[in-house]
Parts: sequence; structure tokens; C-alpha cells
Amino acid sequence: MAEKQLEIIRKIKSSSLDKLYSEYIKYQTNCRTDRKSAKMKNWKKKVLNRDNNKCVICSDNVILEVHHIKDFFLYPNLRFDVNNGITLCVECHKKLHLIERLGEIQND
Ligand SMILES: [Zn+2]
Ligand SMILES: [Zn+2]
Repeated sequence: MAEKQLEIIRKIKSSSLDKLYSEYIKYQTNCRTDRKSAKMKNWKKKVLNRDNNKCVICSDNVILEVHHIKDFFLYPNLRFDVNNGITLCVECHKKLHLIERLGEIQND
């Protein structure tokens, strides 16, 4: 069995449901705080500047968003890493997320 699965089994056996719930809620709160932080605003600004304030895919510059290449939730240590962000317009951003989702489904 893979190391990761063994680790999960160990955790299931050693943690109570209450403890896991409270850890999970704490994590969610952390995510929410990070998303709204000045640090996040600053990160966005830096990525937008680096990408010359336009979508890296189609060069549109009307409504821009910054995408986390490695997932915001799964990689907390890369959350504020400028190299982990790319500037996208709303449409390309939506498309990218859908393509990523579809990729996950097909790889399963
Ligand atoms: Zn675009
Ligand atoms: Zn995104």
C-alpha cells in the first residue's frame, strides 16, 4: 500500500471525529483569512505587474483575475509565491478550471 494511504489509515485510527472536524474548521477559517488578507492583495498586484496587466493566454485586459497554478487549498506554502500565480481574464480562468476538473475526472 502507498505511504500516503497508510498515513491516512493511521490518522483515522488515532483521531476522533470531533478533533478532525475542529481541525478542518480551523483550516477553512485560515483559508478565508488568507484570501482576504493584504498579503493576498499584494501577491495579486505583483503577479498582475509581472504579466503586464493582461491575460497570459489571450491578452485581454478588461477583467483580470490571478490564478494559483498549484491549488490554493492544497498548497498553503505556495499561496503567496509570485511564481505560483498567473494572470487570466475571467473567461480563460473559467475555462482553465473546467479543463483541470475534466482532467481529474479522466485520470481517475
Ligand atoms: Zn484570456
Ligand atoms: Zn484559478
